[in-house]
Amino acid sequence: MDTSLPSAHLPAPDRDALHDRLSRAGLRATQQRIVILESLLTLPGHPTAEQVHRHLRPANPTLSLGTVYKALDTFVEAGLTRRVPAAEGNRRYDADCSAHHHLYCTDTQEILDFCDPQLDALIAEFFAARQLKGFQPHSFSLHITGRKASEPH
Ligand SMILES: [Zn+2]
Repeated sequence: MDTSLPSAHLPAPDRDALHDRLSRAGLRATQQRIVILESLLTLPGHPTAEQVHRHLRPANPTLSLGTVYKALDTFVEAGLTRRVPAAEGNRRYDADCSAHHHLYCTDTQEILDFCDPQLDALIAEFFAARQLKGFQPHSFSLHITGRKASEPH
């Protein structure tokens, strides 16, 4: 079984794909939204609005942090992105809205995606057997805190 950590994110989609993603979510594909969505998909570890802004500013000097926040909130409302709770109180964003778990590194504050169908089956079986009174769970998202092993030199 492959137990290595999953790589952070999908390869960067091209402009047409980004345009498409925005249109399908019912949003106008402005240049700003395209570059913001692109950095969300390519920056590792579930970035904050500040990190997205810092990443984009050199190539887009007129882009304000407020615009980045506004775009990210619009993405969340349109179901294109979700907010990920973070220990330090920062809002972090995840462009992958499919079901997955998160590994929180307490050293680097990175949030890594974690997918494991075997774990999902285990949790589903557990709750099916446990029969919660008055509650029917249908999805699970674990918040796993720990430390990333340091890279071998
Ligand atoms: Zn995620």
